[in-house]
Amino acid sequence: MARIEEYVPIVGQAIIDDLRLLAERLKGKVVQHINSTSVGGGVAEILNCMVPLLRELGVDTRWDLIKGGDQFFEVTKKFHNALHGRKAEINEKDFNIFMETSQRNIEEVNIYGDIVFIHDPQPIVLIKKKKENKWIWRCHVDISNPSQKVWQFLKKFVDKYDAAVFSAPTFSQKLSVRQFLISPSIDPLSEKNKELPRETVEIVLKKYGIQKNKPIITQISRFDRLKDPLGVITAYRQVKKYIDCQLILAGGTATDDPEGLEVLEEVKEKAKGDADIHILLLPHNDMEVNALQSASTIIMQKSLKEGFGLTVAEALWKAKPVVASNVGGIPLQIKHKYSGLLCRSVEGAAFALKQFLNSPSYAKKLAANGKEHIRNNYLITRHLRDYMLLSLALYHNEDVVSL
Ligand code: UDP
Repeated sequence: MARIEEYVPIVGQAIIDDLRLLAERLKGKVVQHINSTSVGGGVAEILNCMVPLLRELGVDTRWDLIKGGDQFFEVTKKFHNALHGRKAEINEKDFNIFMETSQRNIEEVNIYGDIVFIHDPQPIVLIKKKKENKWIWRCHVDISNPSQKVWQFLKKFVDKYDAAVFSAPTFSQKLSVRQFLISPSIDPLSEKNKELPRETVEIVLKKYGIQKNKPIITQISRFDRLKDPLGVITAYRQVKKYIDCQLILAGGTATDDPEGLEVLEEVKEKAKGDADIHILLLPHNDMEVNALQSASTIIMQKSLKEGFGLTVAEALWKAKPVVASNVGGIPLQIKHKYSGLLCRSVEGAAFALKQFLNSPSYAKKLAANGKEHIRNNYLITRHLRDYMLLSLALYHNEDVVSL
């Protein structure tokens, strides 16, 4: 686990000094985070990194979990899909299961924080325990186009919070409470993002039979139709007619996701017969993801729909030229022709790939701009600052509306 001083060479002393000043202002307050899991998923990943850093800064930060059985988590998975606007059959029984488990958690979870961060919908009903303390609903989901049935049910609880936090402006909903925008972040010192020795990268390339002497185009993504892996292969083929190159499509195991397996089969079918297409399954292997990103000539993220798109931040942080779709949080990270190239179609993606491959100096310049943009906006240190500023803002007037 990295210590706060280790971030000084990355973001500069002034940023760390600011964090210490903010932490000073929160002395005496207890900040309590509550979610539903300590491992797996982006929320747990961020809390695992943030909580020790905040404590080191002197903010008394603690992390508690709610409990739930299989049925409860099946219902909350349905809620999650419904909030994303996907079809989900949800009936009265589901709402009852959700409320029964929530009631048990109300009885069992000890609330002691002066400031309570509730992450995502699973623990949302705990707000019933609100007293004089400040409560924040930290929503990590894009709820701009939700199933109304689920949203209206949850909104009753959201309206009781002091504030709601979303990851991008387009993810939010009209609410009666104050809203804040806090984007996700990456940790530059994590296994996935720290600089790797060249030998380590080469060992990984060798392991997967990837050549060093041909450009490597990579997309790291779950095998999901919304990540458009077939579109990536088509774009690569259009490029390959002119420039000899390789393609890496790396994703998770997909064994827990029937649709993922189906997509993986389609991808394998489409890639058949081309030894330069590498389809890799990397179950939770942050070091190998890091190595593949680091070894790539260009990183793609040709999603049809996207949340924030952490893979883009990870790639830009490694100073890689990125070709990505203009969807979700991607345009927050890439300004077209400044910190990467945005595309809207397979043809557009192929054109952008060729542009980068034909002009390495242009690619290098945009990649360097991209890295600085991530340094200034999407590292964990900015995230720490935002959480502390938000905590402080709750004690100030309503005129502080956004960070
Ligand atoms: N990821 C990974 N292995 C994989 C596929 C993805 O470690 O096989 C990581 C990826 O590096 C990123 C996260 O999973 O950190 C995906 O986040 P993103 O916001 O890009 O997309 P999501 O999967 O949340 O839609």
